Amino acid sequence: MSKTLIIGCGGVASVAIHKCCQNSSVFDDIMIASRTLSKCDSLREKLRGKTETRISTAQVNADKTEEVAALIREYKPDLVMNLALPYQDLKIMDACLAEGVSYLDTANYEPEDTAKFEYKWQWAYRDRFRQAGITALLGCGFDPGVTGVFSAYALKHHFDEINYIDILDCNAGDHGYPFATNFNPEINIREVSAKGSYWENGKWIETDPMQIKRVYNFPEIGERDMYLLHHEELESLALNIKGIKRIRFFMTFGQSYLTHLKCLENVGMTSIKPVMYEGREIVPLQFLKALLPDPSSLGPRTKGKTNIGCIFRGKKNGEEKNCYIYNVCDHESCFKEVGSQAVAYTTGVPAMIGAEMLLTKKWAKPGVFNVEEFDPDPFMDALNKWGLPWKENFNPELVD
Ligand code: NDP
Repeated sequence: MSKTLIIGCGGVASVAIHKCCQNSSVFDDIMIASRTLSKCDSLREKLRGKTETRISTAQVNADKTEEVAALIREYKPDLVMNLALPYQDLKIMDACLAEGVSYLDTANYEPEDTAKFEYKWQWAYRDRFRQAGITALLGCGFDPGVTGVFSAYALKHHFDEINYIDILDCNAGDHGYPFATNFNPEINIREVSAKGSYWENGKWIETDPMQIKRVYNFPEIGERDMYLLHHEELESLALNIKGIKRIRFFMTFGQSYLTHLKCLENVGMTSIKPVMYEGREIVPLQFLKALLPDPSSLGPRTKGKTNIGCIFRGKKNGEEKNCYIYNVCDHESCFKEVGSQAVAYTTGVPAMIGAEMLLTKKWAKPGVFNVEEFDPDPFMDALNKWGLPWKENFNPELVD
């Protein structure tokens, strides 16, 4: 018997909730709580009669620790899954600490007024979570998330030390719009319009946005342009993976997306600085979000595949060795299964699996952790079981 409080009811949460409902022997009781109650209720209606999981719903403003804490006191969950936005991370962690409940999220904290995400705010909770005897599992989506599990798995089974990691995130899906984002537009645009960076020999090297471009021939997809970005798992993997000398993250973007983004940037539409408009303060990026297609509406129109994985280069028994571990996911199959496209699917499934690891105590230690700090094996098995099968290639094309 377990009870899970799921906060947020957007693209990622909807997939995670569908998957929890498929896995009802672990998730026999869930509560969906979000800012807009009607979204929670309509998802519950959709799932009615299709699952053994008992579902209740609630309205909560997760910007208010006391509201989340009151809901925890009322529902008494074993775990809180934060699938709202990164801005709510600390407030929800505070509520979990106050009520003594474990916590999971898929994206690290970012203050709303500064487009800079890093782990320092959440890692600062380590002692308090340890002392309270509860666990916080950070960044348990695909990237971050599965990319950390792949790294721990490669280190455990294939390498004595990993010296180089390149994380490659390719979305070859086509939704037919000239410009749309596949997950929350505000979070997505903040991420891709920021300066790039990678970690090398103990230091961060900063680049201009989209300055470093490579072309890669992705298995089951073909050649795509990809660009170096800063990404949150670089920070934790650089600390947690033995022997690491360099770690980089690349994401594919089509020309239409980049041209639109440049134009929007040039006119100031991606800015997060409030401006006055007709006597009222508005944040240009939030206004842009209101104009763009809702990512959850992309599901029925998106065709093609995603391929996300990690290329590892390191040593085993003194010999150089390479290994590429990746997952390919098909947008249309995801939509058929859970009514969402692959970007939400590849994030929501690992969130459900991470929650399963904590609820079943396969991952059990008090404190604040990133996924690569746990045994990767049960998670890797669960990926195969729950819709994200992975492949290994020991002679991959490398990125220069
Ligand atoms: P959406 O915008 O689709 O959904 C966010 C949900 O959170 C909405 O239901 C929203 O409510 C709710 N919400 C927002 N603010 C609050 C609040 N103050 N209180 C309660 N609920 C709130 O986002 P996504 O599903 O696309 O993304 C969810 C998370 O997943 C984000 O943190 C994102 O960064 C992360 N992510 C992680 C990835 C990974 O691989 N690790 C990849 C993709 C995303 P309302 O409906 O009222 O707006």
